[in-house]
Amino acid sequence: MKIGIIGAGPRGLSAAERILRNNKNKQKLQLFLFDPVGPGGRIWRLDQPKELLMNSVSQQVTLFTDETLSSGGVVAPGPNLYQWSKGPAAEYIEQKAGKEKQLYLDEIKRLEKDQQSTRCLYSVYQHWFFSQLQKEYGESLSLIDSLVEAVDKTDDGFRLKTVQKSYTMDRLILASGHWENEATGEEQAFSEYAREHQLFYQMPANPADVALDQIPAQEPVILRGLGLSFFDYVGLFTSGRGGRFEEREGKLVYHPSGNEPVIYSGSRRGLPYYPRGRNQKQGGAMAWPKLLTKENLKKWHEAGNLTGELFFEYLKKDVELFYYKKIIEEHQLPIDIPVFEKEFLAESTVSCLDRYPGLKPYRWSWEKLSSPITDSNHDFAAASRHFIEDQIMEAEKGNCTGALTSAFDALKDWRDPIRQAMAWGIFSVQEYKDILWGWFTHLNAFLTIGPPVIRTKELAALIDAGIFHLIEPPLAIQKESGKFVIHYGNEAIKSRFLIEARIPKTDVLKTENPVIRDLSKNRLIRPFKLKDETGEYATGAIEVERGTNRVVCSSGEIQTDFYCFGIPVEGVDWLTAAAARPYTDPWNLRQADTIAQLILSDG
Ligand SMILES: Cc1cc2nc3c(=O)[nH]c(=O)nc-3n(C[C@H](O)[C@H](O)[C@H](O)COP(=O)(O)OP(=O)(O)OC[C@H]3O[C@@H](n4cnc5c(N)ncnc54)[C@H](O)[C@@H]3O)c2cc1C
Repeated sequence: MKIGIIGAGPRGLSAAERILRNNKNKQKLQLFLFDPVGPGGRIWRLDQPKELLMNSVSQQVTLFTDETLSSGGVVAPGPNLYQWSKGPAAEYIEQKAGKEKQLYLDEIKRLEKDQQSTRCLYSVYQHWFFSQLQKEYGESLSLIDSLVEAVDKTDDGFRLKTVQKSYTMDRLILASGHWENEATGEEQAFSEYAREHQLFYQMPANPADVALDQIPAQEPVILRGLGLSFFDYVGLFTSGRGGRFEEREGKLVYHPSGNEPVIYSGSRRGLPYYPRGRNQKQGGAMAWPKLLTKENLKKWHEAGNLTGELFFEYLKKDVELFYYKKIIEEHQLPIDIPVFEKEFLAESTVSCLDRYPGLKPYRWSWEKLSSPITDSNHDFAAASRHFIEDQIMEAEKGNCTGALTSAFDALKDWRDPIRQAMAWGIFSVQEYKDILWGWFTHLNAFLTIGPPVIRTKELAALIDAGIFHLIEPPLAIQKESGKFVIHYGNEAIKSRFLIEARIPKTDVLKTENPVIRDLSKNRLIRPFKLKDETGEYATGAIEVERGTNRVVCSSGEIQTDFYCFGIPVEGVDWLTAAAARPYTDPWNLRQADTIAQLILSDG
């Protein structure tokens, strides 16, 4: 059987590994991984600035399965990124790394298990992983370093076309990950204006791909977005340009090189994402919910009384309970935790908390977390700088001992119940729109998928050095007198440079990825739209059958020889942009494993 996998990022590699390992009947297989960038793919390519770090700590990144794998496939353990860096990495780097060998050797020596590695080092890990598979499976596995531009359906499979050649395949897996989109109306208007006036306008993209060398020193630059991409720009515009951070009395101080631009950045909220808390979780340690347990969910679902609204009420209550228990521990309050837990679960949050005045100073508020600065008389610059200091302080308390940080980390650990609820289809379209995507997904990103805390400390130092400025919302960008103009306090800032500091959203109808466009044209895929009596919602995802990730073609038929998983199905699935974490039965590996078993069983 010939199997084509489009994309050799982490998911493409996992799909290949799972198929090869699960092939217990020794079917004759030929796997072709297509990716112009090679193993690791675009996000994790080798030739990118060393300032760009992973957001996950090295012991929480893996490509290997372990005994927690629940999808039934063959378990084939191996080192996580940290273990690899202290084990097989050195020999592999000695043999394979080119002119950057010494940099990698230094990094693997330095890297700690609760530290984030460079993106490049994760790339080396993925190259090594692929080389191990090749060693073991020889000619069964080939890498074609070309972009797949088109796919035709044939009588018994698919024909994949690259610029150079065509390949026929019996089965197809699309794991094409992140890709750029066509411009929206507003982006189009900015692009045209930039062209007319010789300005620089950057559409949403991976910061590693942006031509920042076109931006001279000292120039004002506007960044729209304060999430993960923004933090990539923090590194690229500063240490990436020769500046230096020095630690003084526990804080960072920035020594500019003089090559930095002056950054004005804003977003709808006007505040940067919370940093990741100092990691205290070892192995597969996770927070466990009291309400949204597997058993409860199953029971409520079977009884038919779980709605999206109720689900999120339970989730909120679980997070709050987890937080208050941690507050009691953090502040050593004289409250009996088991008694408190029982009461908290049995009655309304407000009435329970009213009986515990010791908790009053620490009240959890979803509204306040979502909009931390609300006082209309504030000085935004001072308030936002203060907020960043608080973020750093909370993150450093740790994700097991700091109450706020532990609660954020618990939200990270409780993604699977959300995916399960989606898989059961318990959300109405309105709940999808208003609660899951409209409210929770944004807030969850703000609280739980932020940068390493070092980046937030750097930002604080850069604000103090007058190199970065946060703009009070709403961020209004005008096109005036041949420049982009924003208001920073009472000052009008005129800039030639505007960057959308975020990565492109999944949108099957807008993607520039040639193969997805061609698959649409050939009616082999269709957009996933939700519709019920509460409304309609176009998710932007490619439609796949939940549970199997088999692709649904334009007529609605499920194709048993064509699978898609990861970023292009964000909308059918949820929060696909994440690496697999060891000992947590990681969802990406589970999906790859399921796809592999399905392919092998119908082979
Ligand atoms: C800038 C950035 C930083 C991130 N950092 C982290 C992090 O620190 N931790 C974390 O957990 N997650 C991170 N993520 C999330 C990321 O989604 C996952 O870590 C992971 O890369 C997803 O893997 P994937 O294989 O699904 O997609 P990708 O990694 O995007 O890989 C898809 C691959 O498919 C290839 N491809 C696409 N189209 C074609 C085609 N037509 N023909 C051939 N090949 C094709 C691409 O070249 C690409 O290499 C980050 C994402 C971004 C954008």
